[in-house]
Amino acid sequence: MPRSTLELRRLLHALPKVDLHRHLEGSLRLETLAEIAQEHGIDLPSYNIEQLRPYVQFTDEQPGFHRFLEKFKLLRRFYTTREAVRRVAYEAVVDAASDNVKYLELRFSPSALAHAQSFPLHEVTEWVIEAVAQAESETGVIARLLCAVVRHDSFDLARQVIEVALAYRDRGIVGVDLTGDEVHYPAAPFASLFKHAADHGLGITIHAGEAGGAENVREAVEVMHAQRIGHGIRSIEDSNVVQLLRQRGVTLEICPTSNLQTGVVDNFGLHPLRDLYVMGVNVTVNTDDPSVSDTSLTDEYMVAMMGLGVKLRDLRVCTRNSIRAAFLPPEDKQRLETLILSEFDAWL
Ligand SMILES: [Zn+2]
Repeated sequence: MPRSTLELRRLLHALPKVDLHRHLEGSLRLETLAEIAQEHGIDLPSYNIEQLRPYVQFTDEQPGFHRFLEKFKLLRRFYTTREAVRRVAYEAVVDAASDNVKYLELRFSPSALAHAQSFPLHEVTEWVIEAVAQAESETGVIARLLCAVVRHDSFDLARQVIEVALAYRDRGIVGVDLTGDEVHYPAAPFASLFKHAADHGLGITIHAGEAGGAENVREAVEVMHAQRIGHGIRSIEDSNVVQLLRQRGVTLEICPTSNLQTGVVDNFGLHPLRDLYVMGVNVTVNTDDPSVSDTSLTDEYMVAMMGLGVKLRDLRVCTRNSIRAAFLPPEDKQRLETLILSEFDAWL
């Protein structure tokens, strides 16, 4: 075992990692934002990175779910051109690769990327796919994409997003996600669309049990047929929901720092990841929004070990859970598991 925090950080950085829950829109480098803003004359409070930081990154402010989502409203203004969209998608994958993420599922909302310039959804999707493929071939990381429907989207917009995801499923789109405000917008109105996506081979993950309670996790599993839940940590509030997750083998995509910033947990000591793990739920560790939260997967592994009581051997189980829950064909998952766990074991 490493003797110091620095040694532990080095070890966790070097470990081969898997991130199933990372938003493209939460992965934009601050330097890139400042450059895009200046180049395109985006009206901002400042072009200076440090002065820009509090507008696009969660700093020392009071935790809060809606305060957290607020950052993404400003970020939507940066998707000004094809080059800007390509650049942020490319950099998101490169940044994951430099953190030794070996398999990444990057999710994006085509409607968010299209918003500023009313780009067609299929065009922004093409740009993301092209940029991610370029980053994959340059770094060796395996990256797949999920298309996100936002809960406050109209049914028609959601239908278009699902159609785009299906149209590009042989070019790296492997699943669909439902994101946004789970407190005010239920998932059920989109059930038929997600069923359609699942019937045509896409994986289903739903943000639930974060700002909302365990009943939203039940809805995600029973009504939306989610194989994975974004966060889902409030499942712990209902033992029947925990039982449901275990019975159906549903995987929770847990993002500890994000949970603290959104105010879902008051401190890491109260985070339920370890309890859910002990109860036999498939838990995984992920980033959510690296730039908004100023984090990396290495940071999240550090938090898991230093703050959440997770041991290195538990992180190995979490990594295996991630690989088994990846939206990949079984033979690809098997290959990935052999590769990553043997590399992981060489470090233990
Ligand atoms: Zn998320």
